[in-house]
Amino acid sequence: MPSVAIVGGGISGLATAHYLAKAGIASHLFEARPRLGGVIQTERVDGCVVEGGPDSFLSAKPWAMELIAELGLAGEVIGSNDHLRATFIWKGGKLIPLPDGVQFLVPTQLRPIAATPLLHWRTKLRMGLEYFHRRGRAGADDRTVADFVAGHYGQEVVDYLAEPLLSGIYGGDPAELSAASVLPNLVELEREYGSLTRGVLARRKAAAHEEKLPLFRTLRGGMAQLIAGLSSAVAGKATVVHAAVERIERTANGFRLCAGGDWLEAQRVVLACEAHQVAGLTRPIDTELSALTGWIPYRSSMTVALGYNRSDLQHPLNGFGFLVPKKERNRLVACTWVGTKFSDRAPDGMALLRCFLGEALDERDEQIIAAVLIELREMMGVRARPRFTRIFRWPRSMAQYTVGHAQRVARIEERLAAIPGLHVVGNGYRGIGIPDCVRMAKQVAERIARG
Ligand SMILES: Cc1cc2nc3c(=O)[nH]c(=O)nc-3n(C[C@H](O)[C@H](O)[C@H](O)COP(=O)(O)OP(=O)(O)OC[C@H]3O[C@@H](n4cnc5c(N)ncnc54)[C@H](O)[C@@H]3O)c2cc1C
Repeated sequence: MPSVAIVGGGISGLATAHYLAKAGIASHLFEARPRLGGVIQTERVDGCVVEGGPDSFLSAKPWAMELIAELGLAGEVIGSNDHLRATFIWKGGKLIPLPDGVQFLVPTQLRPIAATPLLHWRTKLRMGLEYFHRRGRAGADDRTVADFVAGHYGQEVVDYLAEPLLSGIYGGDPAELSAASVLPNLVELEREYGSLTRGVLARRKAAAHEEKLPLFRTLRGGMAQLIAGLSSAVAGKATVVHAAVERIERTANGFRLCAGGDWLEAQRVVLACEAHQVAGLTRPIDTELSALTGWIPYRSSMTVALGYNRSDLQHPLNGFGFLVPKKERNRLVACTWVGTKFSDRAPDGMALLRCFLGEALDERDEQIIAAVLIELREMMGVRARPRFTRIFRWPRSMAQYTVGHAQRVARIEERLAAIPGLHVVGNGYRGIGIPDCVRMAKQVAERIARG
């Protein structure tokens, strides 16, 4: 069996270690932080389950759920309360519900679109007429998400739907993100049907008999339960070293890695750290690979959790939360009403809000909380002081799939094919969410096991 070193102990690195262990392959896993999980971090505060990073995963992508079942945690999974699902958009000083029937960005019902104050009548007309788009409009080259969405539904849909929805997922800008990499399903529908609305309606009809899954899933104890499950599963098979890998060199048999002043030899190396880290570590090995991974931009993000006495909030918390479009934004990007989205996240009599903010991570905690409280007061009428607050900072953690991303990743894979034994996995390449990270980890482990 080959000796394997994994760099990075987030979900990508841990899942790789797990799938290798299943194939009977031991590994050394290096993690720079004092804890495992990467951006997955759950705390229990005042009886509340507080997520610092991701709070759930998409049910539609099966790989996270498969892993959870393998770990014996399927009984711990809870689904989102989709019967209470409503998302509000902050516009013109009001929280306006996203009209019914909007599936991601695509309108599928006329009446709610016609009635919403979120969009101008010109946009509504354009959204209706999109139904008649014919095939053949698709551009061959990659486009920005902004160009793609505006081409179908107009700029207002970019500003008030695409931008806030994607900010929540990527912290990214539709004028830079790649339609092919970020909206692959919609690009495929465009190719097949011309109209996205017609495409979504046709697919929905075809899927009518399929089992209806909750949109999101999580674990009763929070996403860190997955990390704890993985850590136990790999115990004795993966040796975890809490040190940053500083340098990797090629040897006659594979590689040697330097971490905390010690060197370790390994025949295979899996780089499960952020692409900007990969860029630094691969510079002595392959300058083109280093440059390509270095080109993948990352944004920073921050989440702020606030626990309240429920009686101190007058707001009905009648949905999953709200998004703030860039055009209307001060600091707040989004806010999740945690107890509505998932049950059992806060004890009776308490309410938990989870706010997302963008860059500016070096600001002092008091300033951040003060800024959040001002905006919550304006947007939700919250005047009370929270019982507790928690701030989680995630520097350069959200990969941005900008135009040309798929070609860059294909080239990265070509370079890797020329360096036997070196692999990359993680949110910088072929999927940002947890299920995609698990899928990539499994594929890398299978490739290593095949030899
Ligand atoms: C705030 C936030 C909310 C999110 N919400 C969701 C969500 O709800 N659902 C969802 O599916 N996805 C969500 N995501 C995305 C998803 O969580 C991440 O893409 C995924 O967890 C990334 O896992 P990873 O292992 O690839 O990277 P990371 O979690 O970033 O882990 C990489 C690890 O590598 C370590 N490392 C880096 N360099 C070195 C080195 N030289 N030596 C040793 N270790 C090193 C780092 O310390 C880190 O622990 C969210 C992300 C963020 C930041």
